[in-house]
Amino acid sequence: MTAKPATTASAASAATFDVERVREDFPLLARRVHDKPLVYFDNANTSQKPRQVIDAVDAHYREHNANVARAVHQLGEEATAAYEGARDQLAKFINAPSRDEVVLTSGTTQSINLVAYSYALPRLKPGDAILTTVMEHHANIVPWQIVAARAGATVKAAPIDERGELIVEKFVELLTPEVKLACVAHVSNVLGTVNPVRELARECRRRGIPLLVDGSQAVPHRPVDVQALGCDFYAVTGHKMLAPTGTGLLWARREHLDAMPPFFGGGEMIREVKFSGTTFAEAPHKFEAGTPNIAGFAGMGAAIGYYRTLGFDAIRAWEGELLAYATERLREIPGLRLVGEAAEKEPVISFLVEGAQATDLATLLDLEGVAVRSGHHCAHPLMQFYGVPATLRASLAFYNTREEVDAFVAALLKVRKLLM
Ligand code: PMP
Repeated sequence: MTAKPATTASAASAATFDVERVREDFPLLARRVHDKPLVYFDNANTSQKPRQVIDAVDAHYREHNANVARAVHQLGEEATAAYEGARDQLAKFINAPSRDEVVLTSGTTQSINLVAYSYALPRLKPGDAILTTVMEHHANIVPWQIVAARAGATVKAAPIDERGELIVEKFVELLTPEVKLACVAHVSNVLGTVNPVRELARECRRRGIPLLVDGSQAVPHRPVDVQALGCDFYAVTGHKMLAPTGTGLLWARREHLDAMPPFFGGGEMIREVKFSGTTFAEAPHKFEAGTPNIAGFAGMGAAIGYYRTLGFDAIRAWEGELLAYATERLREIPGLRLVGEAAEKEPVISFLVEGAQATDLATLLDLEGVAVRSGHHCAHPLMQFYGVPATLRASLAFYNTREEVDAFVAALLKVRKLLM
């Protein structure tokens, strides 16, 4: 079953977005939590799933379940068609030049580790460096630290300013000859900042330095075109973009994939195995050892279908309106400090409230039915930059409403009083 469009593509504006219709597709949004209507503002952590995705996973296990690529029987062909079909859809979703450049993974963490171990580690020499930024998720820091330490290389971080924007000139200055790879988030999971990836990619290419982009927080909100971005690697996690957990992808330029040795060895990634030596399958299969998350990728196919039906024009119009409204409402709260005020943002709002601990506020908000995240958001260096141990983060999705923003602000005003 496909989603009904919430608005027509030609009339994509916040005014015509039928959010109530869209919400009918998300069964969990009708839940109550602590006897209050749920307000789910933890979408940067993981998104909720539409029934189209849930149905696809359910149908996979009820009607099509078999392993991929290993069976000539009908069910095996159906499972393979769903899994390989998701690769086709993902390739189109990010405008990859070829489906063979799309490695299916369990998520961004695996995608980045694949590049760390298979691309970076064999190339790094003592004295080399990897450049990343202060605003990265640990998934785009720690793998680089691990392989850099093994190779005698270092990890450098480009600075940001108080508004939470990357200081592009400093990033470019840091692209020195010993830098063998640069790694940057497309969108920050804490600040919502959208980084100027095209410009960064251009500067990297000029110096012959490959650029990896962590697209985890971008793909749920904006159309991504890896060819237009001009990067070398693009990592995506599925569970933040309506798909099941344990799904994701690594896109890489063909020349990189061809030059990269396999990371995991096992079944399905070989051409021939002999004790005298094994030959490997071509990319992307040489990176996909073992049985993958087939049901998850059946759901991924449905998730992409859902985005296609809704259309990013409509999604962006509605999310833009929600971000502006929520930011304006939060500014009304005395003692509230926004963390991250970049000129270009996706709907992620981090903040602090004077006199109250972020975790205490999040715990009390939960009792009001409001799900937000508190903590360091797997971004310790960013917390260190702002000199705070934690922030509260409200992260919105296209299925959220202005009324939910009002309920969130009312709950925040209430719980703030309790802590004062
Ligand atoms: N990068 C960013 C920017 C993220 O927000 C996340 C998830 N919080 C990750 C990487 C890691 O994604 P996953 O755990 O799905 O691999």
